[in-house]
Amino acid sequence: MENVTKVSGTCAYCGQAVFIQPKVGEELSEHDLDMMATDMCTCAQASSERRKRERKETIDKFIKEHFAPEHSALVRSVIQMTEAYDLTDFRCKLPNENTVRIWLDSDAFLHIRIKKDSDEELTV
Ligand SMILES: [Zn+2]
Repeated sequence: MENVTKVSGTCAYCGQAVFIQPKVGEELSEHDLDMMATDMCTCAQASSERRKRERKETIDKFIKEHFAPEHSALVRSVIQMTEAYDLTDFRCKLPNENTVRIWLDSDAFLHIRIKKDSDEELTV
C-alpha cells in the first residue's frame, strides 16, 4: 500500500477540512494538522480567535518595548481588569516618573498611553 501523506486538517471550530502543504521533510501529526487547519481557517470563530491572539501579541510587544520588567506585571493586570470589569480610566505614576493611562473607549478599543517627554500610545 502506498504511503500517502495526509495533507488536510480539520478546523476545531467549524469542522471544515483545510488543505495544508507540508514543508519538505516536515512530519506533521494529525494534531499538528488540525492546529494548522484551525489557524488557517476562514470561519468566523477561527478568525475571531486569530484576531484575539494577534491583539494580545501586539499588547505584549508594546509592554515589552515600553515598560521595565518590574512594571510589566502591574500593567498586564490593569489591562486584564480593564477588559474584564470595564474600568473606564486608570492612571498611575510609575517610579520612573512616566505617567501611564489605560482605558477602554466607547468602541471597546483599549488604549495604553505613556506620558514622558513625548507621548507613546497603543490603541488595539
Ligand atoms: Zn473553521
